[in-house]
Amino acid sequence: MQKNYQNLIVGAGISGAVLARLLAENGQSVLVIDKRSHIGGNCYDYTDENGINIHKYGPHIFRTNDEQIWQFLSRFTAWHEYTHKVRSKINNKEVPIPFNFESIDILFDKQKAKIFKEKLLKNYGKNKKVPILELKKFPDADLKELADFIYENVFYHYTLKQWGCEPEELSADTLARVPIYTSYYDGYFTEKYQAIPVPGYTKMFENMLNHPNINIQLNIDFKDLKDINYERLFYSGSIDEFFNYKFNALPYRSLNFRFNTLDQQKFQSVAVVNYTGQETYTRITEFKHFLNQQTQKTTIAYEYPFTFEVGKNKRYYPIPKRENEQLYQKYLELAKKEKNVYFIGRLGEYKYYAMQNAVSAIFKLFKKLNPV
Ligand code: UDP
Repeated sequence: MQKNYQNLIVGAGISGAVLARLLAENGQSVLVIDKRSHIGGNCYDYTDENGINIHKYGPHIFRTNDEQIWQFLSRFTAWHEYTHKVRSKINNKEVPIPFNFESIDILFDKQKAKIFKEKLLKNYGKNKKVPILELKKFPDADLKELADFIYENVFYHYTLKQWGCEPEELSADTLARVPIYTSYYDGYFTEKYQAIPVPGYTKMFENMLNHPNINIQLNIDFKDLKDINYERLFYSGSIDEFFNYKFNALPYRSLNFRFNTLDQQKFQSVAVVNYTGQETYTRITEFKHFLNQQTQKTTIAYEYPFTFEVGKNKRYYPIPKRENEQLYQKYLELAKKEKNVYFIGRLGEYKYYAMQNAVSAIFKLFKKLNPV
């Protein structure tokens, strides 16, 4: 086993894998380690005994407008084009999420629906995305009625379950990820490229990491790594852990998944149904929709968020609140004093990155390290 590397990357998730490949193609040696028994981080997927591709750590839908990111990833996988659709049951009726004109038509009588749609169009224009917290502030009695309805039935309880706090305590862009559409468009995302890797995410990362300059060691914690020399460290673990929790631990949300295989072809009409009411789970994912897999059985997962505790469970979501950002900044100050150590990814940067944002951040870092 080789002992000397130019680069050590801690974590084989999307950030670590993309960076490893870029460095390797730049002629540098890379060791990637991960304490889990698999690569891919929380993007990890596998095929279950019924032939269904399962996203072990929750639904991951790749999307981007960035040509460079799309081209890069496409070198390592074929894609299944997929438009993600989400529904929620409100007043016993299934409606599209993001809340759109169809949701309005389903939930309100004709007259009311007409007023809501006309006022949305008049004030925001056609095909626009309006964040709920913005709509709530609009000084018009009808739009206020609509905003209060959507806030209560789509955002309030879901957010309380997901984050353990009131929507207003979170950074504004958190809820703005799921706006209100001033149209009948019923896709969850609007990016140009939206797709799922045909052989799965894990295979895509396996191909990415398959390079003569890259070695991988799984099942090893950074703290237990011995007899390895490296010039630069890229750390995608949580930044507070790296500094032994010198300040308070950074808060995260964790998730529990209750998987269930059912002896029926289909369980729900779309891949994800959000439960935006008082149920204890936030959503149910039915995995076969992602790759349009035709099987006799189906596998679903109920998703239950809860508070992350160090050493007890896994980190999924940094919590985008002001006080947490301030705590992170304290760690960042420590990080700046480290030489040749870089913090990457959702945990290293304490950022609620979607996959494409994680890749974009790595592209930027790589460019900074290797200016042309
Ligand atoms: N959200 C909500 N109701 C929904 C969908 C989203 O309240 O039906 C809020 C909630 O706070 C959630 C955030 O919007 O955490 C972002 O949603 P997204 O679907 O992007 O979350 P992710 O898929 O990353 O868990």
